[in-house]
Amino acid sequence: SAKEEGRNGFRFYTRQLSSHVSERLVIENQLRQALEQQAFVLHYQPQVDVASGEIVGMEALLRWNSPERGLVPPDRFIPIAEDSGLIVPIGEWVLRAACAQAQAWRTAGLLEAPVAVNLSARQFDQSKLPELIAQVLEETGLPARLLELELTESLVMRDPERSSDILNRCKALGLQIAVDDFGTGYSSLAYLRRFPIDRLKIDRSFIKDIVEEPDDAAIARTVVAMAHSLRLAVVAEGVESVAQLRLLREWQCDIYQGFLSSRPLPGEEISALLAGLRAAHLVGLPL
Ligand code: C2E
Ligand code: MG
Ligand code: MG
Ligand code: MG
Repeated sequence: SAKEEGRNGFRFYTRQLSSHVSERLVIENQLRQALEQQAFVLHYQPQVDVASGEIVGMEALLRWNSPERGLVPPDRFIPIAEDSGLIVPIGEWVLRAACAQAQAWRTAGLLEAPVAVNLSARQFDQSKLPELIAQVLEETGLPARLLELELTESLVMRDPERSSDILNRCKALGLQIAVDDFGTGYSSLAYLRRFPIDRLKIDRSFIKDIVEEPDDAAIARTVVAMAHSLRLAVVAEGVESVAQLRLLREWQCDIYQGFLSSRPLPGEEISALLAGLRAAHLVGLPL
């Protein structure tokens, strides 16, 4: 009967719900262990100057090396880490590891460009964030100009006054600030400009179809021009083809990131890549 179906439906629903809840609890506990056992790793993706082809930055992207699940991408565990508050200590680990890696590349003479770290809202809520960053820079020896923070527009816009205070205090340390995934929120560039930001990263979804879709091309091109008129550098995310890069070059977009130049790679593989580039440069080979 309909009544019975309804009851079954309900029972089915609660079972689904509780398995979903306990799955989250399992992951939460495993994340806590991962933190103790240093089971997180950073991969790095080069940021490349559109005009010269030079590497001008590296974005640090978090992965969880789980004994049960293998290498887990951030979208699968960061939401749980955010809900449980674990993102705060995890984010602190990311900051330390990324700064230490950037300083290692720098002292090895491999790279003198900023490393970009993604921040989540919960980390941003910690009013001690600027102090933490100052402490990590001091510990690792990395000059502040070689650290970049990536924040999404929705994070910045949540509490504009507070954001502006925290960002100003971070900026006073001498680091770089980028707005990530630009275009996915509802903020206007003119409003964002009130914050001390250096770079705008155009979200991958706006870059994806610029070759095939004239409307998408018009939007991306306009964002580049508007950002430039506000003296912001522009990074295009998710560039996968030479045809996309050609358009970005025509629009004088500053920097690109994407599978076209490299997938995100473990630190050691990036070191090898940088060493290879340097060797080619020393013997005068074209890159
Ligand atoms: P995001 O900061 O926008 O990072 C860019 C994402 O696009 C990365 O996914 C990267 O692997 C992917 N990507 C880069 N180039 C291409 C391309 O050409 N094509 C395609 N299809 N994808 C490309 P990933 O590493 O899975 O990270 C996903 C998101 O997780 C990041 O988006 C960021 O929001 C978040 N995340 C990563 N690491 C951290 C972290 O340490 N802390 C926090 N709070 N969030 C992080
Ligand atoms: Mg990012
Ligand atoms: Mg992004
Ligand atoms: Mg994105």
